[in-house]
Amino acid sequence: MNYQVDKKGYYGKFGGAFIPEMLYPNVEELKSVYLEIIESEPFQKEFQKLLKDYVGRPTPLYFAQRLSEKYGTKIYLKREDLCHTGAHKINNTLGQIILAKKLGKKRIIAETGAGQHGVATATACALMGLECIVYMGEIDIARQAPNVARMKMLGATVIPAKSGSRTLKDATNEAIRDWINNPVDTYYIIGSVVGPHPYPDMVARFQSVISEEIKSQLKEAEGKENPDYVIACVGGGSNAAGAFYHFLDEEKVNLIAVEAAGKGIHSGETAATSVLGREGIIHGSKTLLMQTEDGQITEPYSISAGLDYPGVGPMHAHLCESGRAEFLSVTDDEAMQAGIQLTQMEGIIPAIESAHAFAALEKKNFSPEEIVVINLSGRGDKDLSTYIKYFAI
Ligand SMILES: *Cc1c(COP(=O)(O)O)cnc(C)c1O
Repeated sequence: MNYQVDKKGYYGKFGGAFIPEMLYPNVEELKSVYLEIIESEPFQKEFQKLLKDYVGRPTPLYFAQRLSEKYGTKIYLKREDLCHTGAHKINNTLGQIILAKKLGKKRIIAETGAGQHGVATATACALMGLECIVYMGEIDIARQAPNVARMKMLGATVIPAKSGSRTLKDATNEAIRDWINNPVDTYYIIGSVVGPHPYPDMVARFQSVISEEIKSQLKEAEGKENPDYVIACVGGGSNAAGAFYHFLDEEKVNLIAVEAAGKGIHSGETAATSVLGREGIIHGSKTLLMQTEDGQITEPYSISAGLDYPGVGPMHAHLCESGRAEFLSVTDDEAMQAGIQLTQMEGIIPAIESAHAFAALEKKNFSPEEIVVINLSGRGDKDLSTYIKYFAI
């Protein structure tokens, strides 16, 4: 079984590039050059230097003593929360912006839901001195004011998407419309392992630094490169793709992907794609997708904005269907409890997205000699108001 993308842009039966004809030249340009550019020496030199000096990589692999004692196994945390801007997203936006520069693009566009990808993109644009336009649903703009302020401070223009449900998918439509109208000078930075080929593969490669570091850090700490388990939360799937990447073909490494069950899988307010999703097309690729009988995308729900997505990227759809990764669904309540537990046992306040991954510890049994790596995708500062309200602090 192969878990990497094939030449046509598919992971098994998922992936591809289902795009309007007018986008074809843009996507074709990217597809024909991305591998050559990102594997070239000048690209890698610039990317690696920024990952080190700007992002602060390598991020630590931290042995969580108290958590390990509680669950009777060896638990390591990959500290993506310590990246500049507080999450793994910056790894990808820096990779894509260097690529955009090499392609001679002058103008960067992005879509954002909660604003985290928008902030990471605006950060990369400020760093490179490139114009930045972020599309965001009108409703999201109202409920994510701090991130809107951050983007504006960083010099980005935030354009409200006023159609449809005025949330992420409408912002995506607006971004695609912009790209169609500006094919020559504009580059579209997508924030997860979603979208038409080659985006899922490209984003997975940029995030694969996470598992590359886990391997060498585990070798140093435990004398072996491979853990028994890698656990990560999945919205679109980029932090999980990065944490899994170099273990995909190591079948002895168990991969666990944790989705948001929201208020419960069958509550109607959920984002549990692996359970409820059926094959469909979203954001330009064929994948697992929550939809109605007649194929309309269902509005997802999760307490964590980053997991509030009706699909998963095509790599994860394939990992799910092939059984290579085990998918777990974690409710809002389970995630919040796991978040406060990590805070009070290890002194680390996680993003609520990441807290979902920690809730998996309650659902699995590990033995004392096993090594479990949890990808701590981001820090919880952005979620303080949600924590405060939930626990009435
Ligand atoms: C955006 C985000 C996620 C979800 O996105 P993926 O592409 O699935 O990684 C998870 N954790 C944090 C901290 C995020 O900001």
